[in-house]
Amino acid sequence: MKDAMWCTLYFKGGLNYFLANDKPSNRIRYPLKRRASVKDLIESLGPPHTEIGEIRANSCQVDFDFIVSGGDVLVVKPNVPPVDPCRSTILRPEPLAALRFVVDVNVGKMAMLMRSLGFDTAYHWTWRDKKIAALAHEESRIVLSKDIGLLKRKKVTWGLFVRAAEPDAQLREVLNFFGLHPPFDLFSRCLRCNSLLRKVDKQAIIHRLEPKTRKYFQEFSICPDCRRIYWAGSHQEKLLRRIEAAVGGEN
Ligand SMILES: [Zn+2]
Repeated sequence: MKDAMWCTLYFKGGLNYFLANDKPSNRIRYPLKRRASVKDLIESLGPPHTEIGEIRANSCQVDFDFIVSGGDVLVVKPNVPPVDPCRSTILRPEPLAALRFVVDVNVGKMAMLMRSLGFDTAYHWTWRDKKIAALAHEESRIVLSKDIGLLKRKKVTWGLFVRAAEPDAQLREVLNFFGLHPPFDLFSRCLRCNSLLRKVDKQAIIHRLEPKTRKYFQEFSICPDCRRIYWAGSHQEKLLRRIEAAVGGEN
């Protein structure tokens, strides 16, 4: 093949992680066999588009639709934390109005922790890739997943490939990546179904309380959807201590 039909890609930062095992170098010479966007080309080599923060073609910043030509030199850089999806960039010109998440089942235990911090976090253990991608698109949600194939889907604009194995470390990873710090809106959402809780008068739900809860607690919230009742009991304190340890600071 003539020189003009090849392009060269340099993958920076942690993007090597996604390259196939037979490509240990971050420099890849790639044969152009068809008309392809830089996004297709990058993803065919491994990294999902959600991990990319900047692309330069022959030193100029380009977007994902840039069509690669023979002889092009492409430098591909990862997102660098803290990443703010509410700001417009060349790769993602339409900023999010607010941070909202959808959690894949492979990091599902993190959903409850995100909700306890007050983040709008959609999750159900039965949801497959197609459903998660559709939700990300329709509700402008950021996908949190360990599934590279899911993060490559066209309907997903924002996402994070979660590297940590344990839920507490995963939470820390997400908070660090998006630069999220205390104070959080703690215990403002239903841990079971993500709805915003409402204050409820004790007398209205007193018949549902255990004797000790009835005796020692005065303030309660209720989920408007599943009707679960919340109060500042020992379960909340336990969760708070766990979150403090995970976040590594005051809430
Ligand atoms: Zn609920």
